[in-house]
Amino acid sequence: MPPKSEATMAEAKPSGQKVHTSEQPVTLGNWYQHVNWVNTTLILIVPVLGCITAFYTQLRVPTAIWAVVYYFWTGLGITAGYHRLWAHRSYEASLPLKIFLACAGGGAIQGSIRWWSSKHRAHHRWTDTNKDPYSVHKGIWYSHFMWMVLKQNPKDKGRTDISDLNQDPLVVWQHKHYGFFILAFGMLFPMVVAGLGWGDWKGGLIYAGILRWLFVQQATFCVNSLAHWLGEQPFDDRNSPRDHVVTALVTLGEGYHNFHHEFPSDYRNAIEWWQYDPTKWSIWVWKQLGLASNLKQFRANEIEKGRVQQLQKKVDQQRAKLDWGIPLEQLPVFSWDDFVNDARSGKALVVISGVIHDVTNFINEHPGGKVLISSGIGKDVTALFNGGVYNHSNAAHNLLSSMRVGVVRGGGEVEIWRQGHPEKLAPVGAARSWPTC
Ligand SMILES: [Zn+2]
Ligand SMILES: [Zn+2]
Repeated sequence: MPPKSEATMAEAKPSGQKVHTSEQPVTLGNWYQHVNWVNTTLILIVPVLGCITAFYTQLRVPTAIWAVVYYFWTGLGITAGYHRLWAHRSYEASLPLKIFLACAGGGAIQGSIRWWSSKHRAHHRWTDTNKDPYSVHKGIWYSHFMWMVLKQNPKDKGRTDISDLNQDPLVVWQHKHYGFFILAFGMLFPMVVAGLGWGDWKGGLIYAGILRWLFVQQATFCVNSLAHWLGEQPFDDRNSPRDHVVTALVTLGEGYHNFHHEFPSDYRNAIEWWQYDPTKWSIWVWKQLGLASNLKQFRANEIEKGRVQQLQKKVDQQRAKLDWGIPLEQLPVFSWDDFVNDARSGKALVVISGVIHDVTNFINEHPGGKVLISSGIGKDVTALFNGGVYNHSNAAHNLLSSMRVGVVRGGGEVEIWRQGHPEKLAPVGAARSWPTC
């Protein structure tokens, strides 16, 4: 009997369990069932039609400027509004500012505040796991936009608390009437401004409306793809988020994503003044204007702790790659007499700080000369090594550790002698009474 195909096996699941489309293999006959057509229309079909129409539409200078201005405007609606205000509550906004951000974010055509924030909270809660809606581990294009193009299996949904959003009348209203926002702020408003302003109705729709919407979508999607793929991880490297100036330039400052995942309720993404974070600057200006308040910042001490720990981790990883010699606890133990006898029988052994070192291969390379090092063979040269003759460098200490071959029982010649002749030990009281001058 031939093995069952994957689809047949999926259908053969216990009765009553309906197999979700996403669990079935994509075939020529069913590929369209795997596609989320609403999302695909908004992020692929309309933008592609816009690009085609742009070939037949003259781009006028005022329209080009307006398209760029509206790009930043709607981009801020996402970064400062959807992301930092609603998804992370990193500051509080007055009602006029909230209305502005809800409209601007709506014009970026990335779903309602409620939908966007719920996915984003799941992304933070379940980063890099199967429940992360846009996990980069499923591929960079998946995290960029394919997660919206393809139907998702509801059983993979990472649940999060959005009760605060459900209690915000503006958020609920925007979610309910999201279609209106697409039309009004995705297309009509940019078209009307260009039309009434300088008579360019068609250019306003194509360039400031649809092409601008394509660019702002692709820019924001980079936070989910590029920011989890390109750059440094100065705060934590257990998950994929990364910091990179290129991502910051593309995403209105959302590129310091490693920091952001560590400190998500901080209203900043860039913590240095010279880093590019226009979203942070805008929120700060709104605060000065009385439109925003309670801007949250993690304590500098906590941020530095994370940075230092990550640095330490990297140093430890580099350290582990180096040869530091046999660990002391793994070295064999020799008596003092064994050490002396072995040295007399031809091995170039010296004791430093209770550890026996074999310097046979180093005698000719000793920067201080052959005579000095040879004169220490069979002896405890701790004092000579540590300043008696020459206070050896850190590099010399490191090199020495690679020559370890054993440990002297009791630590050294004197200790052995003391153990062998306890009656000759000076009483503690007597030692204390020694003259000090
Ligand atoms: Zn992320
Ligand atoms: Zn976030």
